[in-house]
Amino acid sequence: MENRFESTPIEYLKGVGPLRGEVLKTELGVFTFGDLLNHFPFRYIDRSKFYLAAELKEDMSFVQLKGKITEIHEVGEGRSKRLTGTFTDPSGSVDLVWFKHIKWIKETISINKLCILFGKPTVFNRAFNMVHPEVEYFETQTVALGLQPIYNLTEKLRSHRLDSKSISKLIIALLQYNTYHIDDVLPEYIQGKYQLQSRDVAYQMIHAPKSNAEISEGQRRFKFEELFFLNLKISGLKNKRKRDVTGFVFHKIDYLFNTFYASHLPFDLTNAQKKVLKEIRADMATGKQMNRLLQGDVGSGKTIVALLSMLIALDNGTQTAIMAPTEILANQHFENISNLVSGLGLRVELLTSTTKKAKKTKILEHLLNGQIDIMIGTHALIEKDVVFKNPGLVIIDEQHRFGVEQRAKLWNKHSTPPHVLVMTATPIPRTLSMTIYGDLDVSKIDQIPEGRIEIKTVHRFETKRRELFSFLKQEIDQGRQVYYVYPLIAESEKLDYQNLLDGYHTLKHEFPEPMYTMGMIHGKMKAKDKEIVMSAFSRGELNMLVSTTVIEVGVNVTNASVMVIENSERFGLTQLHQLRGRVGRGPYQSYCILLSSLKLGAIARKRLEALIETTDGFEIANLDLKLRGPGDVLGTQQSGLLDLKVSDLVKDEALLIKTRHETDALIQEDPLLKLPKNSRLLNWLEKQKRLKGDWGGIS
Ligand code: ADP
Ligand code: MG
Repeated sequence: MENRFESTPIEYLKGVGPLRGEVLKTELGVFTFGDLLNHFPFRYIDRSKFYLAAELKEDMSFVQLKGKITEIHEVGEGRSKRLTGTFTDPSGSVDLVWFKHIKWIKETISINKLCILFGKPTVFNRAFNMVHPEVEYFETQTVALGLQPIYNLTEKLRSHRLDSKSISKLIIALLQYNTYHIDDVLPEYIQGKYQLQSRDVAYQMIHAPKSNAEISEGQRRFKFEELFFLNLKISGLKNKRKRDVTGFVFHKIDYLFNTFYASHLPFDLTNAQKKVLKEIRADMATGKQMNRLLQGDVGSGKTIVALLSMLIALDNGTQTAIMAPTEILANQHFENISNLVSGLGLRVELLTSTTKKAKKTKILEHLLNGQIDIMIGTHALIEKDVVFKNPGLVIIDEQHRFGVEQRAKLWNKHSTPPHVLVMTATPIPRTLSMTIYGDLDVSKIDQIPEGRIEIKTVHRFETKRRELFSFLKQEIDQGRQVYYVYPLIAESEKLDYQNLLDGYHTLKHEFPEPMYTMGMIHGKMKAKDKEIVMSAFSRGELNMLVSTTVIEVGVNVTNASVMVIENSERFGLTQLHQLRGRVGRGPYQSYCILLSSLKLGAIARKRLEALIETTDGFEIANLDLKLRGPGDVLGTQQSGLLDLKVSDLVKDEALLIKTRHETDALIQEDPLLKLPKNSRLLNWLEKQKRLKGDWGGIS
């Protein structure tokens, strides 16, 4: 049953009507009474306190004063027309000015009548001044002198005289409506267990709070609800897949795995690698589809784990694939893996957008008839015409570059879905992995192979480039190689591109041929040309690689010992960490040199300091989340999933975890929400399905 009150169209509310109703719909997405109640204030102003004109200070936010407006005048002509006035109280005076709705304001102001003035003081011509203050007279006063909620506004709302105060009035009218009735959506036993207010009371606390304590009480209730339902969907989805989706049973460990392990493995696995391999192996033997996230910091050795997992799949008679986000990375995997498995009689192929047509046709044919064992590629692998005979395991490297839907494309076309292993080098803060990847099981490589020497990270102002150059020469003379990175940010692409070219010429001049060899790669180059430069650098034929962030992910050149980052203040923290991870992969002391201009903002400084202080990717990811917010950390592709209205993944981590425990337990006990005590949840989910379509798109 729909709640009649909540679903009443907004234009029926007294004071709204068709015209304002339309504005509320288009500007705020408010269609119904319920929608309006869900339009929460973003802050509150304490209107119980009065200031004196003499107490005003420049940096104050909104204040209110008690006194009289002693004069108003219309001044100026045409566009510069405005209304000015003077407000006086026993301690002094404030200048007032209005630029809009002049006629209307003039009509509503009474001279020399005691009033409340409300606004933000600014200093203009050495006197205190308020622009567009609110004025209220005592006999018509409608604002309670307590905590006043402030709502988000748009210009269009304002032009229909829907300011924060009038929205507040509308909502208060709703709260006092004679048919006011709000259905609760959380089961009673959960409300009781967590001492949550019922929904109707919580709305009162949010929109008409009597104290700060009420505000937090109301907020806590809605945050709980939001995170609870987010988690309920995730818990439900995960459970559903575990129940419904059958997967290949890989019960054998056979020739390929054993031979490789005994005689091809180039090093001993770390304990962490062994641990995650066990988890993966067990998961692939359950008869359910594996959906696992493999987290491991840069350099923790995910590739070998991926390969060993693939060998298990191959031992069990299926094909495997590995998908990388860039051409360079796909190439590198192809070379690396081809080398590692040589002699095992496996057919490894590479498919990218630059694969020649004839070759592609052949690959597609052999993929379909099962002749190809290991298919490596980029996004090209998710095209419609790419069909495997029997894919048993699909590995996605550097997941954060792939959207959720893209992941799904890989296996939708097959009846028995392959196992899926998603690898990410960007350590994801727990709150994010719980939400974005909440339906995946997680394995973590929490150890870096032994014998690595910690990278030295320093910050230098770009005025010290001279000294930097002689240091680079020293390193190159000792046989090492250097990455030299310039930012390339979409918004200022042209300028950045020019910077890169100028930089390249300066460096070329500083490191002349034939003494030094240098290459450049950037996103505008043809994939093939990038490839030529990149592989020359990998083979050690170039001393220095000048580039944009195209080398950011995965690239592995063990002889490279220095990473120089120009304008490092313009990079995100995670990105800097990724770049730094390109060095320190071999037996040499490595360096990451963060260059910046002398002007360095507070947040940029924090980022650089954090990077100097720690090489722990998880610590860095957490800080990144705090500095930037979840949308940015993941890129726009996935931020839509996190359209949280009231809660904040950083501040509300504890609540997120608590609600997940609750929903996991709940789904365990009552997977289909059939128990009477959970009937409200079933109603809620069904209503959501009707409103938004199925949420099952994740994964
Ligand atoms: P990432 O997790 O960043 O993808 P890679 O798989 O590229 O890391 O591994 C980084 C480097 O460490 C590679 O040169 C790889 O050969 C090496 N490596 C991986 N595992 C080990 C190990 N157990 N012992 C020594 N070196 C290892
Ligand atoms: Mg990698």
